[in-house]
Amino acid sequence: MPALEGKNALVTGGSRGIGAATAVRLAEDGANVAITYEKAADRAAEVVARIEGLGRKAVAIQADAADADAVTAAVDQAAEGLGGLDILVNNAGILPTGTIDQVTIAEVDRALAINVRAVFTAVIAAVRHLPEGGRVITVGSFLGAERVPRPGLSVYAATKSALVGLNRALARDLGPRGITAVLVQPGPTNTDMNPADGPRAEGSRAASALGRHAEPIDVAASIAYVAGPAGRFITGSAITVDGGSAA
Ligand code: NDP
Repeated sequence: MPALEGKNALVTGGSRGIGAATAVRLAEDGANVAITYEKAADRAAEVVARIEGLGRKAVAIQADAADADAVTAAVDQAAEGLGGLDILVNNAGILPTGTIDQVTIAEVDRALAINVRAVFTAVIAAVRHLPEGGRVITVGSFLGAERVPRPGLSVYAATKSALVGLNRALARDLGPRGITAVLVQPGPTNTDMNPADGPRAEGSRAASALGRHAEPIDVAASIAYVAGPAGRFITGSAITVDGGSAA
């Protein structure tokens, strides 16, 4: 039997990049999958078609992560559309850049709303649905872990560092219910956010022990591992999937 047969998952920001790869990978492992997106309805529809092509239920929900009511409604809609919710993957995120003299408070507020507050919102809504054995998996960043290797990342690194503490605290709050919380921290990954042929790519490759960007499926595979039966005793931890960029 596939590892996630009969499970229902919601992946926020599932229309592109790591979220899309994760949604499809969870479906390959047997799960029904709902995704949220902000703007890319066409890309979300492609992901839905791929999941349905695997014989699984799929739902795409437009929900701006900056809008707490929309996120709450999306979680409830996902649970209703799929027939329950076992796995929440908090993936939607943005990467604001600029050195501290360039940062505006509006950018700080928006990044906190999307990268941090939306995680709270989704988890608060999801715990009403998650059963014992449920999973809360949040996508952080290696930039929120140990090192910030270049200028211009204060806002982003701060939001991703916030998820380290949040994940640990979630493990404590949800442990008594048999629900785990895990932070998956990718390094440079070849997506629209950070293309392998983009302006920062050469420096990223040089810093990576493996000498390349991850592909989205590399990160999705770790998320699927944590979501599956093998992940049942992993909680409160962060798993860094960065090709040795922080080594
Ligand atoms: P992409 O920019 O390729 O995709 C972002 C996804 O998030 C899209 O599905 C997008 O939806 C969605 N999204 C963005 N803003 C919002 C919003 N306001 N509301 C709802 N959905 C939104 O990013 P990645 O796949 O690269 O990143 C995914 C996660 O991985 C992020 O949390 C990011 O910080 C993290 N990460 C990425 C790394 C990288 O190198 N790529 C490295 C470390 C961490 P739409 O298509 O509708 O715009």
